[in-house]
Amino acid sequence: MRKHAPAALALAAALLLAGCAQEQPSASSQIFAMDTVMSLEVYGDGAEERAAQAAETIYRLEDLWDVTDEGSEIWALDHSGGAWVDLSPETAELLDQALALCALTDGALDLTAYPAVRAWGFTTGDYRVPAREELEALVPLIDYTRLELDAAGARARLPEGMELDLGAVAKGYAGALLARQLREAGTASALLSLGGNIQAVGARPDGSPWRIAIQDPAQDGQAALGVVEIVDQAVVTSGGYQRYFEEDGTRYWHIMDPDTAAPARGGLSSVTVIGADGTVCDALSTALFVMGAERAADFWRDHPELEVELILTAEDGSVQITQGLEDCFEPAQGLEAAVIAP
Ligand code: AMP
Ligand code: MG
Repeated sequence: MRKHAPAALALAAALLLAGCAQEQPSASSQIFAMDTVMSLEVYGDGAEERAAQAAETIYRLEDLWDVTDEGSEIWALDHSGGAWVDLSPETAELLDQALALCALTDGALDLTAYPAVRAWGFTTGDYRVPAREELEALVPLIDYTRLELDAAGARARLPEGMELDLGAVAKGYAGALLARQLREAGTASALLSLGGNIQAVGARPDGSPWRIAIQDPAQDGQAALGVVEIVDQAVVTSGGYQRYFEEDGTRYWHIMDPDTAAPARGGLSSVTVIGADGTVCDALSTALFVMGAERAADFWRDHPELEVELILTAEDGSVQITQGLEDCFEPAQGLEAAVIAP
């Protein structure tokens, strides 16, 4: 047996090489992090190792930001009684970028909406409809302008009684950071699917664009609204169908209107944002859902510098896409998408 081993090995190596000549090495892994299933698909040399590093990075970010974990930096900020809290570079970078997006969206995105998220039971799964007085008392606690980052960005503080969470932006930032790391390591092709957030590095290994299915909120995401083609971009969707409960025939979802401390009712059932920066896409998907279709379209027209495109699905099932998607969004059969012009 032993005598034949080298020959067998040589044969195996030859088969492997033949395989490599036809297609690139690849790694595909599934992990559970940030409350969702994630899949990491990496192509090219060192794919296996880079996918493993990407998973490590996600777990590290989760440890920094898990709002319910007493060891996390966000937990520390929420329980510091107004004192300064030291931040890791990633937390500081995300808070800085996210605060700018809170301001840009006029507070439709508000990182301090957490007391409302909790009051409706979304943190525990013990869902309830809070009384009006309870919600009125929460509204003054939602105010991102009271979150302070010191000049060097290495510390932050939040007034006692207020709480923040990064649920609206964490996965988008994670995708953007991983894409940056993968590109720096020389990866030319990868697709990261982090819950409702898709992040592409480059194109598919054969050079064609990635084809991403957009879920149809009317069918609780079980069917596709259409397919969008992307290269090197993020595709992020926020939808009322992603996390919700029903009581007395009404559906209540996890995206809060900071003005009412209640689920946002802007008439939309989902918002997809496509663009180069995953953090921007994630922040905007949440904020534009809060704004509703008309304000979302105006926001898009007012901010061409963000270079994002939108798919807006209304509660009545109608779909609108922004003009830049005309050539790369393929609606599902029978679906008509109206075009929002600049
Ligand atoms: P997303 O799925 O990206 O739209 O983020 C939704 C999550 O962000 C929720 O589960 C909450 O944790 C948090 N959140 C809810 N409403 C808001 C809001 N208006 N601004 C910022 N974060 C929010
Ligand atoms: Mg978001």
